[in-house]
Amino acid sequence: TLNDRRQRVCILGATGSIGVNTLDVISRHPDRFEVWAISGASRVPELFAQCLQWRPRFAVMPDVAKAAELRQQVRAAGLPTEVLEGEQALCDVASHADVDVVMGAIVGAAGLAPCLAAARAGKRLLLANKEALVVGGGLFMQAVAEGGATLVPIDSEHSAIFQCLPEDPRTWAQRVDHIVLTASGGPFRDRDPATFASITPDQACAHPNWVMGRKISVDSATMMNKALEVIEARWLFGLTPQQIKVVLHPQSIVHSMVVCRDRSVLAQLGTPDMRVPIAYGLSWPQRIESGADLLDFTQLKALTFDTPDARRYPGLQLAWETLLAAPGHTCVLNAANEVAVEAFLQGRIRFDQIHQVNAQTLSDCRVPAGAAESVANLLALDADARRVAQGVAAGCGGPA
Ligand code: NAD
Ligand code: MG
Repeated sequence: TLNDRRQRVCILGATGSIGVNTLDVISRHPDRFEVWAISGASRVPELFAQCLQWRPRFAVMPDVAKAAELRQQVRAAGLPTEVLEGEQALCDVASHADVDVVMGAIVGAAGLAPCLAAARAGKRLLLANKEALVVGGGLFMQAVAEGGATLVPIDSEHSAIFQCLPEDPRTWAQRVDHIVLTASGGPFRDRDPATFASITPDQACAHPNWVMGRKISVDSATMMNKALEVIEARWLFGLTPQQIKVVLHPQSIVHSMVVCRDRSVLAQLGTPDMRVPIAYGLSWPQRIESGADLLDFTQLKALTFDTPDARRYPGLQLAWETLLAAPGHTCVLNAANEVAVEAFLQGRIRFDQIHQVNAQTLSDCRVPAGAAESVANLLALDADARRVAQGVAAGCGGPA
């Protein structure tokens, strides 16, 4: 059973916002969990500090030079940790026989291969890395089923839906009429869209309710994050695109809702704190302490709900458009958006041009028949879409 020995956890993307929150939750339950492997892409000092604190069996850095730097520090400190390098090492630790739980907290399609490896190896997979599911789609869910993995959503909206549904997924289709994902609207909810061209990366990354990595922060500002979440929900819960709705809810207290066949509505509420979905992922179907603050109802002034403005958030509708198009289009959308967000963060394109890159790439990139029939085909399509998107971004003209 769960308590016979500590669960060995592999955290992919340990140095990121979700990774750090995962370590925080684990630190509250030393009797239940053991940090067995961690990974990070760029920040050697942070990953080294985590090695010192947690003494994991493995630490992985995809970059060879950074791995060498970390290895030297780990050896000098006399730690028991073995430092591995290369992308394959991420898959190796995620599927290792000694691992019980894998937290998928890498950002972007880079997380697809290691998350798939965990799924195929039948792990309990806590999935924060929504892009992996947006790219992998049906193949990802098939790997989960065939590998006998337990997939627990970590995205707060999807965790909310998951918490509102019974444990047995076979009962979901019969119960659910549709789901409603809540969206905060991000930092530019009230800003005049005529001024969007002058938005800076730091302004876009200052989210009013959540502290997150830069990519997802920009996605929240454009609402591409919600578009990715609509696609994510389609696969996690086996819904049609029409069964997924989005409502603006600026307070981020209601994390999402399930509308049942009988029109009863189930919602999950709480303070906006990712440690709640992470704790649920770690303990499901039990519940453990997360460290989150209590929701103080006496301090809640109002919970409001509204329709997202299509002119303010033109990217949102791309979710339904790509889901209804041939398989592979969601992969193209994700690739374009990763390229566009990076170009924006690097000052090569304007905020309002992110949508231009996404829409133009979707119309320029050819999706061959069978593009979503194998992971290799999807990765080829991903690479192709990135090339197209880079071309579109280069032609944008960029900031004035
Ligand atoms: P982040 O940028 O803070 O952290 C990303 C992590 O991935 C870091 O550890 C980084 O080193 C690693 N990484 C980046 N590129 C990599 C690559 N090419 N190969 C291997 N590792 C790489 O991001 P985050 O905010 O923690 O988000 C992680 C994922 O969780 C994203 O998919 C995001 O959409 C999702 N998510 C985050 C939040 C949140 O509150 N932060 C909420 C919901 C979902
Ligand atoms: Mg979310």
